[in-house]
Amino acid sequence: MTSTIAKAPAAAATDLDAIAAKVQDGMRLDRAEGLALLRCEELAFLGDLATLVRERLRPERTVSYIIDRNINPTNVCVARCSFCAFDRLPGDPEGYVLSHEQVFAKVDELLAVPGVDAALIERGGVQVLLQGGHHPKLGIEWYEALFRALRARYPKLHIHGLSPSEIVHVGKLSHLSIDAVVGRLQRAGLDSIPGGGGEILVDRVRREIAPGKAMTAEWLEVMRVAHRHGMMTTATMMYGHVERPEERIDHLLELRALQDESLRAGRGSFTAFICWPFQPGGSELDCVKSGANEFLRMNAVARLLLDNFPHQQTSFVTQGDKLGQLALFFGCDDFGGTMLEENVVSAAGTQCLITIEQIEHCIRAAGYEPVRRNQRYELLRR
Ligand code: SF4
Repeated sequence: MTSTIAKAPAAAATDLDAIAAKVQDGMRLDRAEGLALLRCEELAFLGDLATLVRERLRPERTVSYIIDRNINPTNVCVARCSFCAFDRLPGDPEGYVLSHEQVFAKVDELLAVPGVDAALIERGGVQVLLQGGHHPKLGIEWYEALFRALRARYPKLHIHGLSPSEIVHVGKLSHLSIDAVVGRLQRAGLDSIPGGGGEILVDRVRREIAPGKAMTAEWLEVMRVAHRHGMMTTATMMYGHVERPEERIDHLLELRALQDESLRAGRGSFTAFICWPFQPGGSELDCVKSGANEFLRMNAVARLLLDNFPHQQTSFVTQGDKLGQLALFFGCDDFGGTMLEENVVSAAGTQCLITIEQIEHCIRAAGYEPVRRNQRYELLRR
């Protein structure tokens, strides 16, 4: 070990020192090593190792973010995930489906943000993130019409939308294969797919907390198909509920294996990984809220295991700006999107939206230079 890495805790020093040496040599870590890191209580050690990898991947001292906003086209959902406080069953008076005009009004708000101009939009630097419930009546035609309308009105706006589970749901409703759904949505204007609904990619966990949602193989298949169609995607993890430590590691290894597959095909289409803890407020799932220490540890372990993911986003929406900033020292190199609006996490009583100025301040205060990016992580403006 070099003097730049904090010492491994004495009890497990041999194993952890060996892992640190492998990381320093750029070698891949295995499942047992991932688990040893997840159980390591020495945060400084984990942070130093994760920072080593982060700096190898992004040697310039920058942290990126994207100008975007969240739009949830509907909160009507039949999936009944036990952790969700956002969904409403069909017929619930609080259920909604946004009209095209309501979606346009939200995009117009985004385009009115100071600093958004034609050059930034032209280079894909302004994005909408469209995700919502599994509505029992909104099939492929509804989403095609929405994307076509958005594409006609805002030709260069980047449309990042529909999590894998929503795509599987639309396919089932419309009796179409995943390949057909992805192809048709792409032709209608969809640019890329967010990694939402990943939760933990282990069927034992999914059956317990989200039985109505895509299972592990389906989630991964949507991403595989999207990559084949030339789309970039992200990947997420929501931890801190019913999963075991081994299952968090298995989740990361599933993602790493699919990125390997994509790289072998000459792509590498996962751009970034994002993780956050389960937010217990307002949902049926009864779990203790996971803390700051766990958030930093999880980010560091993900950065060390996901050696083929170029970027890792911090989650200020669930963790607040201070902890979001601290994660920059635990493997994260991206501050995510400006969002403007968030309904899913806020339904569980947690919402930490911050302004562009606050994002840039957090990045600068951590010693990095803030840079705007597009969805492909091409740096656009300092
Ligand atoms: S998390 Fe998504 S799929 Fe699950 S109930 Fe909530 S809106 Fe529906």
